[in-house]
Amino acid sequence: MSPAPFRLAAVLAASALALSACGSDDSSGGSGGGEDSSDGGGGSSSGVTVGIKYDQPGLGLKEGDSYSGMDVDVAKAVVTELGMSEDDITWKESPSAQRETLLETGQVDMVFATYSITDERKQKVQFAGPYFVAGQSLLVTSDSDITGTDSLDGKLLCSVTGSTSAPKVKEEVPGVQLQEYGTYSECVSQLANGTIDAVTTDDAILAGFANQSQYQDQLQVVGDTFSEERYGVGLPKDSDQCEEINGIVEGLWEDGTMEQIIADNLGDNYEMNEELNPPEFGGDCG
Ligand code: GLU
Repeated sequence: MSPAPFRLAAVLAASALALSACGSDDSSGGSGGGEDSSDGGGGSSSGVTVGIKYDQPGLGLKEGDSYSGMDVDVAKAVVTELGMSEDDITWKESPSAQRETLLETGQVDMVFATYSITDERKQKVQFAGPYFVAGQSLLVTSDSDITGTDSLDGKLLCSVTGSTSAPKVKEEVPGVQLQEYGTYSECVSQLANGTIDAVTTDDAILAGFANQSQYQDQLQVVGDTFSEERYGVGLPKDSDQCEEINGIVEGLWEDGTMEQIIADNLGDNYEMNEELNPPEFGGDCG
């Protein structure tokens, strides 16, 4: 909702470094907003709108006025390192199919929403990070005979529109019957109801649902992962903060913050891929 103050803060920070080089005439960054930020310290008068998922336990979850999950904690850590405070964050729900548009239209300043870096998405947005690497897997009921992608023939699968998961499973299991919803929680409800046979997306997301108390004995993640999902910080194409955020993300891994965030949010039942984490940072800005 308030991208302008955030951009203004970025512009102010940049111009503080390069005052003499800055003319006063032109329109660096468009509207610029009307906020009179005179605190000079990146303080609480600036704000940042961060896109997250609202329905993915362990990753991005809204319960009343509280927000939790790995993406939420990474976002808070990055925003803090950028010189703002957690209180400066306005959270905005960013479903899979809307993330590029939300960034392109300035409705959010950053996206931390299990957002895989892909070449196609990079045509519209840029990505800092990655801060985590997950892999696509399957969630089934405890009594299911599905054990992996090779037992999906004739089964009804659910995934989400605008995700990498939907096209990937079609490629992996040609002819699979796939139903696409707007969110993973809708898929999981269908699975728990017995309307569909499996949900497919990133293992971290599936583990988050399986860990919920109401599903603990009912749902399980099965099979090997069959993709690499590099979670990036989605930024508008014209953001000048991508490299800075790369450095921040690397620092979060170096000082142990990331491991703590993962342990706090993804739970004992989730084993992250130790070969792919910490990720290789950088390379997706611009
Ligand atoms: N990480 C994948 C993606 O960005 C799947 C999860 C999601 O839809 O958020 O498409």
